[in-house]
Amino acid sequence: MRIGGWQNLRLGRMAGVPVYVSPTWFIVAAVITVGFEPFVGRSFPDLGAGTYAITFAFAVLLYLSVFLHEVSHALTALGFGLPVRGITLHFLGGHTEIERESPTPGRDLLVSAAGPAVSLALGLLAYAASVPVTGDIAEYLLRVLAAANIIVGAFNLLPALPLDGGHMLRAVVWRISGDEHRGTLVAGRAGQVLAVLVLGVPFLAGGGRPTTFGLLWAVLVAAMLWTGATQSLAVGRMRARLPQLDPGRLARPAVTVQADQPVSEALRRASEQSATAMVVVDSAGRPTGLVSGAALAAMPEERRPWVPISDIARSLRDGMVVKLDVRGEDLLRAIRADLASEYLVVDEDGAVYGVLAAADVDAALSGR
Ligand SMILES: [Zn+2]
Repeated sequence: MRIGGWQNLRLGRMAGVPVYVSPTWFIVAAVITVGFEPFVGRSFPDLGAGTYAITFAFAVLLYLSVFLHEVSHALTALGFGLPVRGITLHFLGGHTEIERESPTPGRDLLVSAAGPAVSLALGLLAYAASVPVTGDIAEYLLRVLAAANIIVGAFNLLPALPLDGGHMLRAVVWRISGDEHRGTLVAGRAGQVLAVLVLGVPFLAGGGRPTTFGLLWAVLVAAMLWTGATQSLAVGRMRARLPQLDPGRLARPAVTVQADQPVSEALRRASEQSATAMVVVDSAGRPTGLVSGAALAAMPEERRPWVPISDIARSLRDGMVVKLDVRGEDLLRAIRADLASEYLVVDEDGAVYGVLAAADVDAALSGR
């Protein structure tokens, strides 16, 4: 998450994965240090301003726990051979960016469960460590840290996207139904419902009279959940349409024209063969360029008999040629690697099959 263009600070690398901290983290660290101080002051009345040191230590320990939660996601993903782009700590916790090229429900489930498992384990460890310690600051910090980690672990296990539990629910529905999109739909909707429910928490906790701080926090968490869930649903819808990205279905029928032929002649041949795209070929019949509809439309009608088609063609680069059997995500990757308005589609023998317009791919992807 990035707020208002503030750059995330890079802390370093962990197992080859870059670790960033968002500047919003410092705001929350300050809020915890100041907001939590009165409670510590009540437990340790003789400490004076030293109580701030305790609350600041708690803020640091809390984020260290969140960091370990994220590292656990990252290491599990790396263990499965999934590349991890980075770990970011921000004001509501952390985020690990994992490239899930060809995900499977089983792997998704384990990568998602690894974070909450570490939080709960840290919580139990901190609690166990606090048992032999009595009546001093160390015991207090360990107890608070135990509670915080158990809350972080339990909250993240709620079955709603974008939380870890939501990814787990998605994987389970996916596994049972065999339909990845249905999993995303169920877990994404659950995320939107949870976002609304969170808004009720400060009212419940305050017996109908929420505190300003509680309300603010609830709105922040609800907004994070709602945005994340809605984004997951949008990405899910897009992924569900990926199989429709098939050059065989999307390519426009094309006519091949010699480079020196006039535009008017090329148009006549295209309409004769009811082709909606043109491929320019050299004397040996090899494709050398593509003509965009926009370039054709921009050519005044009276000039068309006098201008050779090669004048308005875009010369063909290697990246503008896609094979007929490259579909879905692979097709998107091929297109993104070399951005153009048109691509030449060739069959397995390298013969011209048609022309794929980037606009048609966009339309198929957005369901238009
Ligand atoms: Zn997590």
